[in-house]
Amino acid sequence: MTVIHPDDQDLYAEAIAHLSPADAARLCGPAHGGETRQDSVRLGLEALAAEMPQIEVVLIHDGARPFSSPDMVARAWEAAKAHGAAVPGLALTDTVKEIDAQGRVVATPQRAMLRTVQTPQAFRFDLILKAHRNAAQAQQSGLTDDAAIAEWAGHSVHIFEGERTNMKITSSEDIGLAESKLLGTLLDVRMGQGFDVHAFGPGDHIWLGGLKIPHDHGLVGHSDADVLSHAITDAILGAIADGDIGSHFPPSDPQWRGAASSIFLQEAMRRLRARGGVLAHLDATIICEKPKIGPHRDAIRESLAALTGVSLDRIAVKATTSEHLGFTGREEGMAAMAIVTVRLPL
Ligand code: MG
Repeated sequence: MTVIHPDDQDLYAEAIAHLSPADAARLCGPAHGGETRQDSVRLGLEALAAEMPQIEVVLIHDGARPFSSPDMVARAWEAAKAHGAAVPGLALTDTVKEIDAQGRVVATPQRAMLRTVQTPQAFRFDLILKAHRNAAQAQQSGLTDDAAIAEWAGHSVHIFEGERTNMKITSSEDIGLAESKLLGTLLDVRMGQGFDVHAFGPGDHIWLGGLKIPHDHGLVGHSDADVLSHAITDAILGAIADGDIGSHFPPSDPQWRGAASSIFLQEAMRRLRARGGVLAHLDATIICEKPKIGPHRDAIRESLAALTGVSLDRIAVKATTSEHLGFTGREEGMAAMAIVTVRLPL
């Protein structure tokens, strides 16, 4: 159960877009949160109770901690089953001082008896749901984690081993650290290439990279004949060695007649993300005499950035004529070439 702000519905949809329909169907929620963390967790638990009342154990996790490992989740689960309430803790390496309002040290607690705690915090579901309900009823606010709610309700909370890598992203400096940590796991760097051709036919516009461009001809194809999107789709599929556009969207299948090629490109991106990969760079060349691509270049790049979810500075679109030579030179059709770099986990 994901708990989100009601205004973040679109961000949530974007965040789960890479999931296959089967995986997306296994998610419950999202639930809408409240004013404080405590309210949000309680509302999430209530939503969970309504959707899956039979569950035994619940793990409550901060979305700002993206790096907790499967091992840690397993430890959390076991600890909740064994103790009813358990949280991951780390021994301190720095000495802690207690200070007064003037910033003077008033005490030095014994470090060996202190732990910093993280999430996922793990509980028997009925125990923590009841504790949250009672705290809300008693208007007991200001409890900053779920262990504190359980303690307030009189339960003893056990500590299991946390992870130093399970960092909480709270500052812009943390975002930089998290990104480099994430990139450090994507060491399988691959390139893919794609090429496509479509013939000109009657019409008053063409599609390039998901952008509609007025022209005195159209392009002929089973789908919308977006020659650029097709080349890029094949390049991405090539980089992950996952077939080609024709194998995923056979021209013999009537459902793709006239289809927007953005569907094909977004499916290739979904397949890449489903493998934990990112698109690091895309470089494409359009080959035609007309229309002139220059005036549309940045709008095409922006369209591709929106379709792929990749920033504009990683997307290049170039164009060339073929000096009136060959089929593109005779203005019988257009061609496009694309090359991409992707990064996957090893
Ligand atoms: Mg094509």
